[in-house]
Amino acid sequence: MKKYIEIYTNYFNIGEQDRFNCEYCCANNGSEIHHIKYKSRGGNDEIENLIGLCKQCHLRSHNQLEPYITEKQLLKIIKNRNE
Ligand SMILES: [Zn+2]
Repeated sequence: MKKYIEIYTNYFNIGEQDRFNCEYCCANNGSEIHHIKYKSRGGNDEIENLIGLCKQCHLRSHNQLEPYITEKQLLKIIKNRNE
């Protein structure tokens, strides 16, 4: 639960002092919030649609860097959060 709060807090207050671990690769320089379902495609700001990623994983999620990270892979992480 703490992680959700951290992510949510960071969503509003991302800065050098507010880094968190990337939820995908666990790098400790996560500082970007990714909308799993893009806002441009109707994605919302609910915590289930937000994932904290490092710069690299964020680019991979947007298919701007290989190997790409699929929406399905990210949704699996979200699902595991609740277990
Ligand atoms: Zn990462």
